[in-house]
Amino acid sequence: MKTEEFKLLPPASPGTRRSLSVIRYGIPDSSPKVYIQAGLHANEAPGFVVLNKLIEKLDESDAENRINGEIVVIPVANPIGLAQWRDGSLEGRFDFVNSINFNRQHQDLAERIAEDIDTQLEENAIVNVSHIRASTAKILKKITPDDEAGCLKHQLISLSHDADIVLDLHCDLDALMHVYVGTPLWPEATDLSAQLGAEVTLLAADSGGTPFDEANSRLWWNLAEKFPQVPIPSACLSATVELRGFTDVAYDMAEEDAANLYKFLQRRGCIHGDPGDLPPLINEATPLTGVDYIKAQKPGIVVYLKKPGDYINNGEVVAEIINPLPENEDERVYTVKSSTEGVLFSRNVDRFARPGRIIAKVAGKRPLREPGGNLLTL
Ligand SMILES: [Zn+2]
Repeated sequence: MKTEEFKLLPPASPGTRRSLSVIRYGIPDSSPKVYIQAGLHANEAPGFVVLNKLIEKLDESDAENRINGEIVVIPVANPIGLAQWRDGSLEGRFDFVNSINFNRQHQDLAERIAEDIDTQLEENAIVNVSHIRASTAKILKKITPDDEAGCLKHQLISLSHDADIVLDLHCDLDALMHVYVGTPLWPEATDLSAQLGAEVTLLAADSGGTPFDEANSRLWWNLAEKFPQVPIPSACLSATVELRGFTDVAYDMAEEDAANLYKFLQRRGCIHGDPGDLPPLINEATPLTGVDYIKAQKPGIVVYLKKPGDYINNGEVVAEIINPLPENEDERVYTVKSSTEGVLFSRNVDRFARPGRIIAKVAGKRPLREPGGNLLTL
């Protein structure tokens, strides 16, 4: 049965009160539980449209009693960001109040859960999953964030933490379909990337910024490390799905993406029906530490020589930067090169460079950075 609930956020200023729409299909608190949200970065449009299409499909399935377990859908995960207009454009990535990225600094509860469940764990993995989820719910209930965005993040994780599958729909700038997932979840999550036709899958056990997908999944392997004497599985397949680039909003793409998400959920036993054959994975996953964030060294105008989907060799020129006011003629054009070999999966939408600005991303196999630092962009 489909239900829709509106959860109120605390007012940030007198006379304003935002709410979070929560759509539920299937049987509440049953298993498997799926959680899907769009627009945590509120200026990323493709996820809203894909989710709109997926909701149509879920409505049909619900009417035909084909949903197995529970599916929770949040059509607008960030009503705060969706209201942040400035100078004619929507700025939904960073909170205007404190400049914090809405997809960073989500709850990291592993330490608190570990203290709480220390004596409850046993030899049975299923029982341990149940203990950990109950403990997480108990701890979340005791947390009372003091600002609106903190309350929003708290609401989202409270709705998702006990899900078996969490999908956070985003998009990049000018980009290919790609997926971020925890290293311990690979190759188990191969069917997600393969079904979506993702050309790049990026793996990290800890990306350094606690994005929403990791807040749901990382606690499982963190707890498994803390309690090696008992079985603790990675019980939440949580991923950030990057639905190509900002302007990749079209019905044909949205239909295809929604159909692929639906088939993935069928294959995982969350919706009855035959998903058909799994398409082959396009490229093997690569480490997030292997992404070359290619930066401009000089200011100027970027002219790309390579586009998303191109295979780039180490040392290959991906763009040139034109300096319209050079002091010497040999400073008129600078080349920008890759430091790895792999697929160019993202580049900027605008064409302006300043020193240090990332202008393209290449997914390489070789680690370029040590794990442990912040591996994500701003
Ligand atoms: Zn995003």
